[in-house]
Amino acid sequence: MTPYVFPPAAPPSVPVVGSDARFPVRRIFCVGRNYEEHAREMKATVSLDAPVFFAKPADALVTDGADVPYPSMTEDLHHEVELVVALQSGGRDLDESAARAAIYGYAVGLDLTRRDLQAQAKAKGTPWDTAKGFDASAPIGAITPVAQCGHPAAGELRLDINGATRQRADIATMVMAPAAILVALSRYYALRAGDLLYTGTPAGVAALQRGDVFVATFPGLADLRGRIV
Ligand code: MN
Repeated sequence: MTPYVFPPAAPPSVPVVGSDARFPVRRIFCVGRNYEEHAREMKATVSLDAPVFFAKPADALVTDGADVPYPSMTEDLHHEVELVVALQSGGRDLDESAARAAIYGYAVGLDLTRRDLQAQAKAKGTPWDTAKGFDASAPIGAITPVAQCGHPAAGELRLDINGATRQRADIATMVMAPAAILVALSRYYALRAGDLLYTGTPAGVAALQRGDVFVATFPGLADLRGRIV
């Protein structure tokens, strides 16, 4: 056994629908501006040639319906409901069929965002890390294996806050479908088993408050439920 100067943390992991085994997470990639209407509400434009990629630390995940602490250093925490892709394999410069074959399953997630810090970063041309990659910024529901859900190409992705619908869109309206995003991402990174990809949010992003209860759903996938505390 490799000696360590202190015991290493266990890898972050996500429950899997229909299994006692958990999905071990390596990295979390995210893509921005993947729905036209959301790009418009952010006064941004979409580009098929140069998708906006960013990342979150793997230990930013919040699983099993655990409470999400309202983060420090923001007064404008926003929800972004997203379809999440979980990889069982990877590689560089994938083509579309290799990208699909690399997908283990799908989940529903939230890309929580300190919108005030993101606006400052955009204005100053500085990195988005503190706006996007903070502690507990990546709630995720259980992963449903492809064997069970197939590769969803349509269906309503939805987020309810305190029982009222805030975001809803058909994933068929994505600018780039999940496999196409993986093709583009694999030009920048050697993708690996355990990597997650948050595939972008539809319109309707807005502020969350302490006490808010969220329910994110997609047909055929496990619901994501939680509370901001
Ligand atoms: Mn997002």
